[in-house]
Amino acid sequence: MNTINKLTELFSKFPGIGPRQSKRFIYFLLTRNNGFLEELSRLISQLKKEVIVCDECKRFFANSSNSNICNICGDKNRDNELLMVVERDADFENIERSGAYEGKYFVLGGRVPILEKNPEQKIRARELVAVINTRIKNKNLKEIILAFSVNPEGENTEHYIKKLLSAIAEKHLLKISILGRGLSTGIELEYPDSETLKNAIKNRI
Ligand SMILES: [Zn+2]
Repeated sequence: MNTINKLTELFSKFPGIGPRQSKRFIYFLLTRNNGFLEELSRLISQLKKEVIVCDECKRFFANSSNSNICNICGDKNRDNELLMVVERDADFENIERSGAYEGKYFVLGGRVPILEKNPEQKIRARELVAVINTRIKNKNLKEIILAFSVNPEGENTEHYIKKLLSAIAEKHLLKISILGRGLSTGIELEYPDSETLKNAIKNRI
């Protein structure tokens, strides 16, 4: 297989990218100068060395201080009584950008597909339970906010997590809430604007 075909195959693995777009990337790269290509390959090879997964919230962060905990999990001014569960890092980033939320996060790493037989293999279910148990013990956790996409897979994930957490929530009197209405159907949380997110968080149910 030649380089173009190999690269086409690799780019096609990116989310939302098909073979045709993948080819466009390659022709775009071919028009750039060597400096651009070298910088790109250098940064790609550094990525995994510099960016690690936070021990607590499981999001990716640039590890500049040699700590396994990200700046948000380590921030003493954030509200430890609230834990917001999101699907992906992009959702976390959009909510954080809105400035509408002061609590802590947990990144599930995906959604539970409809009729999935092994949901715990699709998302960080066990890790979520472990983090919640620790937070109940050490951090006075009171409420878990499920902030998922407004689509069938998002709803399926919500049902699964609610069931997963029902016993622990009952035992420790934890409130489990979901985002309020106002988010359009079909939307993923990386897209709504700050005002919409603020209202959805404020009016959570
Ligand atoms: Zn963290």
